[in-house]
Amino acid sequence: MKYYIKTFGCQMNERDSEKVEGILLDNNYEKVEEAEQADLIIINSCAVREKAENKLYSEIGRLRFKNKKATIVAMGCVAQINYEKLKNLADVVVGTNTIDEFYNIVKKQGISGVFIKPSMDKPDYIFPHLNRITSYIDIMYGCDNFCSYCVVPYTRGREVSRKREAIIEEIKELVDKGTKEVMLLGQNVNSYGKNFNYGFVDLLYEVNKVEGLERIRFTTSHPKDFSKDLIYAIRDLKKVCEHIHLPIQSGSNKILNLMRRKYTKEEYLEKVHIYKEIVKNGSITTDIIVGFPQETEEDFQETLNVLEEVKYDTSFSFKYSKRAFTKAKDMDGQVPEEDKMKRLNLLQDLQAKITQEKLKTYENRIVEVLIEGVSKKGNQFFGRNRQNMVVNLDFMDNIKAGDIVKVKITKAFKHSLLGKVI
Ligand code: SAH
Ligand code: SF4
Repeated sequence: MKYYIKTFGCQMNERDSEKVEGILLDNNYEKVEEAEQADLIIINSCAVREKAENKLYSEIGRLRFKNKKATIVAMGCVAQINYEKLKNLADVVVGTNTIDEFYNIVKKQGISGVFIKPSMDKPDYIFPHLNRITSYIDIMYGCDNFCSYCVVPYTRGREVSRKREAIIEEIKELVDKGTKEVMLLGQNVNSYGKNFNYGFVDLLYEVNKVEGLERIRFTTSHPKDFSKDLIYAIRDLKKVCEHIHLPIQSGSNKILNLMRRKYTKEEYLEKVHIYKEIVKNGSITTDIIVGFPQETEEDFQETLNVLEEVKYDTSFSFKYSKRAFTKAKDMDGQVPEEDKMKRLNLLQDLQAKITQEKLKTYENRIVEVLIEGVSKKGNQFFGRNRQNMVVNLDFMDNIKAGDIVKVKITKAFKHSLLGKVI
């Protein structure tokens, strides 16, 4: 049996796709890169914005046309919330919390049905990984924050943390197979362990002890829960990389309040200030939504001001998109599409300038790079420095993927750095 898989969306979706692939490979399926050759076509969907959701529908149509015989499975966030519609389009609909049953569900080719559960009841289950130098590790599922624009609490269910023992066991197994770096994943890692007597910082201390593991990253930090203890842990724990992803969403307190983010711009900036003071050479990235209901030009200007002040290494910016179930979709003062577009362009232009300035500061500096692989053309290695910037290196015989090397940066490009091993 052959499968083809296509993944949309965030790192959690990438991890879910990997789980499904692991399950299929364990059951003698073979991966193919062309949908035409597959018996099973899987599309892992993203619901965070309307455009992402629509991609699932067009992709089902396109792949059905290419391969009329295959069983089509729609999984992921859209599957979880829109199964009524998907029932008529896909053969099998698998929600975000039924992945552990994936194989049983698809075992019989041609089986059809909808498999949705509201929440994860086996959070400590250890799913397969496809061995990688960098491995994604779920440390928690779901989200309890209910930001007024966001569909994630509906697609991923209530927040549940995995036990420390399961996480450490999973990481140890991966390190034995060659993993050098882990990315700890959660919608709000800072609230990890809410119902345990240990929290995220305690978890970081434990992960830091795993022998053979070289680097630890994590995402996402919610600014309301981002703590000084965590900042000290980033400074003190050797393996924890000096990078935080701290989504601000907006620089206007009025909008932050409407978004139900539970912090003010001032509180946010204070935390960034402390982070920059304590963590030397720390990088910082963010997410921003433009054109949230009632956002005026002045509110938007405040967001631009925050960009100038924080000088993010990168930011991921989006036009506000109405989502089912959310409070914001019914708010007054929806912003016209053309204003959203204009603001997005302005913001992205400013960020591009800042990113370029930040990357330039690395020229002639020496950084530590974990080599992740060889470029498509085969003439360069690529990897990341501790601050999470992509670094390319000319091909050399005596280094390989998985090595950590010292590199002198020779040139900054638009989104990456070029360097020489020293
Ligand atoms: N848990 C993470 C974010 C997960 S969603 C956090 O709290 O930061 C990833 C990003 O998508 C969000 O940070 C936000 O910037 C964007 N996003 C979420 N819902 C959106 C919507 N309705 N319209 C536009 N962007 C949205
Ligand atoms: Fe969505 Fe807010 Fe939860 Fe992030 S914290 S997943 S933005 S509800």
